[in-house]
Amino acid sequence: MVKVDVKYTKLFINNEWVDAVSKKTFTTINPQDESVIARVAEGDDPDIDKAVEAAKKAFHRCSPWRTMDASQRGLLMLKLADLMESQARYLAELETLDCGKPVKEAESEVYYSITVLRFYAGKADKILGNTIPADGEVLSITLREPVGVCAHIIPWNYPIPMMVLKVAPALAAGCTMVVKPAEQTPLTALALAALVKEAGFPPGVVNVVPGFGATAGKSLTYQPYVDKISFTGSTRVGRIIMAAAAAVNIKRVSLELGGKSPLVVFDDADVEKAAQIAHAAAFANAGQSCCAGSRTYVQAGVYDRFVREAGEIARTRAVGNPFDDVQQGPQIDKTMFDKVLEYIKLGKTCGARCVAGGERLGTKGFYIKPTVFADVQDHMRIAREEIFGPIQCIFKFDTFEEVIDRANDSHYGLGAGVITNDITRALSFAKQVRSGSIWVNTYDHVTSQTPIGGFKNSGIGRELGEEGIKQYLESKTVTISLPKFPQFS
Ligand code: ADP
Repeated sequence: MVKVDVKYTKLFINNEWVDAVSKKTFTTINPQDESVIARVAEGDDPDIDKAVEAAKKAFHRCSPWRTMDASQRGLLMLKLADLMESQARYLAELETLDCGKPVKEAESEVYYSITVLRFYAGKADKILGNTIPADGEVLSITLREPVGVCAHIIPWNYPIPMMVLKVAPALAAGCTMVVKPAEQTPLTALALAALVKEAGFPPGVVNVVPGFGATAGKSLTYQPYVDKISFTGSTRVGRIIMAAAAAVNIKRVSLELGGKSPLVVFDDADVEKAAQIAHAAAFANAGQSCCAGSRTYVQAGVYDRFVREAGEIARTRAVGNPFDDVQQGPQIDKTMFDKVLEYIKLGKTCGARCVAGGERLGTKGFYIKPTVFADVQDHMRIAREEIFGPIQCIFKFDTFEEVIDRANDSHYGLGAGVITNDITRALSFAKQVRSGSIWVNTYDHVTSQTPIGGFKNSGIGRELGEEGIKQYLESKTVTISLPKFPQFS
């Protein structure tokens, strides 16, 4: 077993490490063997109040953060990125320990997060307003100002990237913030907090308060001095957060929620290649991905070959100890493990054909065999509900028109993919499918420059790219009266 040093387990408020006011702690569990990794301070209402107070003070117009040049903010962010790079392996191992993803994937997620930080560091001093040809003897301009104190509520599936996706644009915009990591994965958020301090950010700019959703998370959503909530997680909780955001004040919200994304393979595709793309789309991060391409629609002419191929790839997927050279580790926890196994049972009983997997792997830890269901029908629950586990559902279709309607027949609209060599068909698909991201002959290609987010129940707002920073800015219009000049007669 790889030994990873857990250095930080307290709350990070105002650049200091403190116990919870209640002195309570909670355990974080290793999903490989269900052992306790560490006890972490458990934040609740009074801790959230302290953290928000620190963030509010750091946002005061005369604070070091607010009076700092924007270019200097960018430099601090670059410093943070460098520190992350110097500790990339450690951060990756800590992530693997806490959430069970293969360490090489965790490491590439750290490097990916660094690109996001650097992208937004470059934007810090390039936040521009407009000059407006307003009617009358005036000059009008818009200023783009930080939205204020932000609450970032983070999920457990990609803890480091999800935190950086929110923290980086918020810092570039000049906001201050309180981060609440998921209760399943608090450790890397605290390790990043230590780097925030080391980089030299003033106290209170970034605070990290681990705790549970129903206590610390909820408290943030009702806190009157929080101006903005950005949340990634389930649609169920997104709905609760959106309602809470309107209860005490009018908080801005951006929500990146669930998905049940379609990936459509047309007859003209290279079947082997398509099966590989579809496999990665469905099984990335053990299927624990909002964007997972979990509904694979395959045109009738290549359907049987595709199903054989998909089953074969799934059966040979390397699942095991995430510190080894594997493609898939355990599911995050017992709740999710049980939920996924329940869906597998459901798939079998509702008449879908299980062509790979279909059970847990081994007897210890939350490992599940990559599972492929063929002949799935649109009305089945496995076809309609987000499973968040290593299950691929394969459907047969005949025509373009039919598959567009079926792809769109979902309450979700996060991602969608199409595999074809016909560019007209691909572009027509991209126009007609109602999802925030469309990938053509690839899947899940998300970079610091490309916005992601959802249509319908998949959320509100976009993260990453130009769109990502807009979520952290308010627009202020300034109109200046000018002297009236005499007209020529
Ligand atoms: P999942 O269902 O995948 O575990 P959740 O949507 O429940 O994801 O959780 C994502 C994040 O939202 C976690 O940090 C969790 O603690 C937090 N959370 C859960 N419930 C609430 C709530 N009522 N208010 C605020 N945050 C919450």
